[in-house]
Amino acid sequence: MQNKQLEHPLSPGSTLGILGGGQLGRMLAQAAQSMGYKVHIFCPEADAPALDVTPFSTVAAYDDVHALADFAESVDVVTYEFENIPLAAVQTLSALVPVYPDTQTLAICQHRAREKNAVQSYGLRTAPFAFIEHTSQLDEAVKTIRTPAILKTAESGYDGKGQARIHSLKDAQDAFARFGNVPCVLEGLIDFVAELSVIVARGVDGKAVAYEVGHNVHKHHILDTTTLPAPLDISIRNAATGLAVTIAEGINLRGIIAIELFALADGTLLVNELAPRPHNSGHWTMDASVTSQFEQTARAVLGLPLGAPDRLCDVTMHNLIGDDVRAWKEILENPHAKLHLYGKKEARDARKMGHVNELKA
Ligand code: AMP
Repeated sequence: MQNKQLEHPLSPGSTLGILGGGQLGRMLAQAAQSMGYKVHIFCPEADAPALDVTPFSTVAAYDDVHALADFAESVDVVTYEFENIPLAAVQTLSALVPVYPDTQTLAICQHRAREKNAVQSYGLRTAPFAFIEHTSQLDEAVKTIRTPAILKTAESGYDGKGQARIHSLKDAQDAFARFGNVPCVLEGLIDFVAELSVIVARGVDGKAVAYEVGHNVHKHHILDTTTLPAPLDISIRNAATGLAVTIAEGINLRGIIAIELFALADGTLLVNELAPRPHNSGHWTMDASVTSQFEQTARAVLGLPLGAPDRLCDVTMHNLIGDDVRAWKEILENPHAKLHLYGKKEARDARKMGHVNELKA
């Protein structure tokens, strides 16, 4: 098959392929559909939330090259809704059909050490870190980074998984072994005053459009709320969006990326993590922005002009985790609360079932 080229904006009626069938894929599909596009989901799970919203789907493993080739044949462009998609699947697809963000961006964002090195190469700051591939490197790393620290697996971690607090060399050795001796980063523990995130999109013309920075609060390592405006000085908020644009340009983004930050008491911003996809901390944009992050993602990957990121009102996004979803009736009694549920059947512990955007005058 010939590689499909994407030189012009794709017309409504074209098909967006999405790797991953979770809630992000579902909301992205809905946004693309509302502009007249078809959506084809590729995911391994037969009961994934995104499969409810489109008749076009492939349920297959990410290493099923025949299924990937058929998928590529049936779509005009591909994106993904989480960054832990096997890189090989994205490389296979990229030879057949345009994939955005591209494999280089994905390879950087899949690996914490590559990510931090990239961020530093754009002149921005991260937590101090050491890359560990072998247990014999831990002694030196603990001496350099010092404790308290956090050991994180370089790949495949999310929502606090693959992370351990380190107070001694022994802690580091135990955690490294527990993680299976896989490559890790040892990071200095940051005494931040706030966790922030910025969502930034970059389209076909290379112009980056950043949303205003949100203030994130986590509970048990999972995002609990995102609030805008962030309760920080305007100069820090502006620095956060400026820094996000620097990253989007530096990484040569086509698509959307979420940039998670730590704000220190003196206003310094450290980059914690990059996610080249719509992000939980950007859900506020669905009801409180001119353009939602999902519409923006669709626009960027389909080659359309980007929409305005302007915020329409103050807002707090609350995640509904596990049994929180039972409160749906009370939530709807607040006429300024916008409820979004993902159609997941079982409210298992720590499962993201939905979110509420509480709009303020
Ligand atoms: P991450 O998976 O890197 O986003 O980490 C999950 C959460 O752990 C973050 O949102 C922070 O609350 C906390 N955390 C991660 N890295 C650090 C660090 N270097 N210092 C302090 N807290 C951290």
